[in-house]
Amino acid sequence: MRRPIIAGNLKMNKTVEEAVSMAVALKRKFYTFAEADIVICPPFTALSKVHDEIVDSSIMLGAQDVYWEEDGAFTGEISLNMLRDVGCRYIIVGHSERRNIFGETDEDVNRKVKAVLKHGITPIMCIGEKIEERDNGMTFEVLEKQLSRGLKNLFKDEVMRIIIAYEPIWAIGTGRTATPQQAQEAHKFIREFIERSYDKEAYLKIRIQYGGSVKPENIAQLMSQEDVDGALVGGASLDVNSFSEIVKKAV
Ligand code: PEP
Repeated sequence: MRRPIIAGNLKMNKTVEEAVSMAVALKRKFYTFAEADIVICPPFTALSKVHDEIVDSSIMLGAQDVYWEEDGAFTGEISLNMLRDVGCRYIIVGHSERRNIFGETDEDVNRKVKAVLKHGITPIMCIGEKIEERDNGMTFEVLEKQLSRGLKNLFKDEVMRIIIAYEPIWAIGTGRTATPQQAQEAHKFIREFIERSYDKEAYLKIRIQYGGSVKPENIAQLMSQEDVDGALVGGASLDVNSFSEIVKKAV
C-alpha cells in the first residue's frame, strides 16, 4: 500500500505574511495527520518563515524549482544547499510552466532530479502531454520520452525515492480535469514504464501523483483509481479550506 501524498504548489502567489498565515491554518487542521503526506510549496521568499511555522507538525515543506550546480556565478538561481538549509524535504522539478515558459528541457530535468536526490531531498518530477499531443494519439509517446530522459541513468534505489506527477498540460489551471479513467490509464502506463526499466519492486513502490485542476469535488474519484497515489494541486491550494478538503477527501 503506497502512502498518499498531497502537495500544494502556490506558484508565484502569496507574500511571506500570507503564506505564513496559510501555514498556521493548515497546521491547526493537520498538526498530527497520519493518513497522508502533506507538502506545501510556497515561493522561495516564504520558505524559511513557513518552515519555522510547520517544523514541529506533520506538514512538510517543498520548493518549486532548484538549480543543479552546488554554488557559484548563477545569478537568479537557487541551490540545493540553500533549500535544504531552510528545511525543504521536496522539490518540484520540470513543472510544465518551467518547461513551456522558461524553456526547461528533459536534460535539465534529469540534472535537477539527480542533484536533488544527491542531497537527500525528494524530487517531484512533473510530466504530461499537451492537448494537441493527446488529440494526435501521442500521449504515451510523450510520457515515455519525458520519463526515459528525465530518469536517465538513475539507479533503482534512486527512482523509488522519486514522486512522479502526471500533469496533462491541458488540465493545468484550465478547470478541465482529466477523467479518473484518463488519469488511471496514464498512471498505469507510467508504472509499467518503471517496471520495464527497473523491476516489480520499483513498479509497486513508486508514487505517482495526478495534477491538473484538482478540486475538493473531484479528488475522491481520482484517488479511487488504483495507480493514483496523490495529487499536486495548484489553484485550489491557494485557499486553505479547499486544500484542506482535498487532503481530507483524498484519504
Ligand atoms: C499545477 O500547476 O501543478 C497544477 C496542477 O495547477 P492547477 O491545480 O491549478 O491545475
